[in-house]
Amino acid sequence: MNLLDRLFSREIERRTGAHAITIYIESENARKRSRSRGKKAIQSASKKPRKNATKVTTKKLQGSFLQRIDTRFPWLKLFAVCLIGIIVVLDLCDLTISHTSNELNRIRIAPMAKHVRVTERVLNGKKLVALTFDDGPSELTTPRLLDTLKEKDAPATFFMLGSMTRTYPDIAKRIEKEGHIAASHTMYHQNLIRISANAARDDINEAKATYSNTLGHDPTLVRPPYGNYNDNIRNAINLPIILWSVDTLDWKSKDVDAIVAATKNQIHDGAIVLMHDIYPTTVDAVPIIIDDLRQDGYEFVTISELANIRGASLTPGTVYYNFRP
Ligand SMILES: [Zn+2]
Repeated sequence: MNLLDRLFSREIERRTGAHAITIYIESENARKRSRSRGKKAIQSASKKPRKNATKVTTKKLQGSFLQRIDTRFPWLKLFAVCLIGIIVVLDLCDLTISHTSNELNRIRIAPMAKHVRVTERVLNGKKLVALTFDDGPSELTTPRLLDTLKEKDAPATFFMLGSMTRTYPDIAKRIEKEGHIAASHTMYHQNLIRISANAARDDINEAKATYSNTLGHDPTLVRPPYGNYNDNIRNAINLPIILWSVDTLDWKSKDVDAIVAATKNQIHDGAIVLMHDIYPTTVDAVPIIIDDLRQDGYEFVTISELANIRGASLTPGTVYYNFRP
């Protein structure tokens, strides 16, 4: 069996799927054995059908259909292989060919990273919004929020407390593992402008060490508690400071409808939405907010993605409230 024969028969098998007829083309050795047995024996063997009705063996016999085609149209096999090659290439590029076979669909989709494809397609021409969650992670609420974000394919940014991160390191790791940003909200949620510069610096550094021990790297973004900072704090933090442009007041209302309404009333392209993943009502509101905003043409990104798309370089010590176009 030469290379073209092999490619031809394999491709026919692959593309016709489970219900197909499998065509066997005899090997060089088998052909020699057949010759020695004589034409008569071969002919009688070829007339006996196989018991397995789903498989038909087509011997490459003198005068067989395939051989007659092969002899009359020697270019046909090469043409067929080229055609199959083109179809396979188009198929891999996901440009054409609708398949009815689940097997083929699985093969086509498997190498594609779903998240990347969705993000690339959806962000084009969309308004962008960064959901941010402070004060966690909490064992009681954050895992459920992560389930929702995963189900909705919506990345977010978590400004985690060092103290909570130390208590729930596995949730902190899960946040990063599932494509969100795990950022710093300091160690103990102190109002940094009300404590001494040294105490503020200690808090920031302890949080940094906790993130590093838990996640294997330093945080890259910080949100100071209550959004309070001064020049000393900015210098001590020495990272981009991310505040917000949409305040849901979820900590105050603890009411799903109020959180959804507050978000929709203030939302804008490039918004940074402040929420807290430690309240069950916030977690309840998130899927509604995601669905509603998507209907209004928004798509969800992390703070880093939003800054990057809007061409903003995140500079240490600089304070960001939003990334409007
Ligand atoms: Zn906070």
